[in-house]
Amino acid sequence: MNYELITDSFDREHLWHPYTSTIDPLPTYKVRRAEGCIITLEDGTELVEGMSSWWCAVHGYNHPVLNRAVENQLRNMSHVMFGGLTHEPAIELGKLLLDIAPPSMQKIFYADSGSVAVEIALKMAVQYQYAAGKPEKNNFVTIRSGYHGDTWNAMSVCDPVTGMHSLFGSALPIRHFVPAPQCRFDGEWDEKDILPLRETIERHHSELAGLILEPIVQGAGGMRFYHPRYLCEAAKLCKAYGLLLIFDEIATGFGRTGKLFAWEHAGVEPDIMCIGKALTGGYMTFSAVLTTDRVAACISSHAPHTFMHGPTFMGNPLACAVSCASVRLLLSYGWKEKVLRIEAQLRRELAPARGLPLVADVRVLGAIGVIEMKHPVDMAWMQRRFVEEGIWVRPFGRLVYVMPPFVIRTEELAKLTSGLLKIVGEIPAGQKQSL
Ligand SMILES: *Cc1c(COP(=O)(O)O)cnc(C)c1O
Repeated sequence: MNYELITDSFDREHLWHPYTSTIDPLPTYKVRRAEGCIITLEDGTELVEGMSSWWCAVHGYNHPVLNRAVENQLRNMSHVMFGGLTHEPAIELGKLLLDIAPPSMQKIFYADSGSVAVEIALKMAVQYQYAAGKPEKNNFVTIRSGYHGDTWNAMSVCDPVTGMHSLFGSALPIRHFVPAPQCRFDGEWDEKDILPLRETIERHHSELAGLILEPIVQGAGGMRFYHPRYLCEAAKLCKAYGLLLIFDEIATGFGRTGKLFAWEHAGVEPDIMCIGKALTGGYMTFSAVLTTDRVAACISSHAPHTFMHGPTFMGNPLACAVSCASVRLLLSYGWKEKVLRIEAQLRRELAPARGLPLVADVRVLGAIGVIEMKHPVDMAWMQRRFVEEGIWVRPFGRLVYVMPPFVIRTEELAKLTSGLLKIVGEIPAGQKQSL
């Protein structure tokens, strides 16, 4: 590998990368191109993509169908404001989304990114309660180990420990947190799991606008898979105490967990649902907030009769056009068989990691494979070793995990899993740890 070519001194000096220091930044690798499931670095090194660029690139890179959708739309218009104007890509996408969303979802609000979708969902819930004559119901309850984005209110409902709430202190709105569900997705249901949420809702419902959580799979907050019954019980509590149920499906949406959306594992429909990430097939930033006629009508029937949000790039035509193409593509090529095939291969090929001394747990759901270590890993060391093995995997904390594009080939996935096992197995005992 040619480190001169795949690192960049300007980048190191001036560009801030996610969650790293500017004084002693973690290394970044310079990418020349990406195609299918292969990321090619500047020196020609090829890496099998294990992250789907953080859940997004489900069809792989440089897909001819998605490229064409963007190019065609570009020739008509890249953007027009959504205030007072509309366009075919927005309408077409709306129709596609209603076909695949929970049946109760009937109103769609387009937004810029996942975090913004979460902000909108929270505002929607507060404005709903206000319109319903309950302005004091303006706070939220959530479960620990969640991740909902990095903007102010999204951050306030992230896990308080991994979300570093202590850092932002009193500037952050104070939410109600209950322990993360303990019953595993494929384990036995235990009634005790719901008790903390029941207690909190019973005690604080008069000030709670809603419950927000990631259904079934908690992503960046811990890669945890929990029991579907939790959602059934949570929905009952929300209904009984007048809370809106908000599902953040930004990571779980579009097939990742083995269902098109994770709510289907439990058959529980939310009042508000956020989608993003794989919505555009990973081509650009975009998201949507879906809700019921009941919520939308309540907000609209009380002064100011409008929902108080309207981003500049709302309904961006390029994003809508590529989202239409991505959703169609997903539905056209047997996504489910692809995800179930990945699931079976991950189960088979990651299982031996259970025998490694530093491994605490191995779990797989849909196209997500997680090796949980007993201690945090040295990210810089592990990242470099993965790159040397020809795979792109980015661990964090104690979690080494993959969520490959759905179009990954059996041999490519085998390269990912064998690389994972090899590197996890060679962690030096007593290695220096870093976040
Ligand atoms: C990534 C993510 C977000 C935030 O989305 P951004 O596009 O990064 O703002 C919110 N919720 C969940 C569950 C996510 O995985």
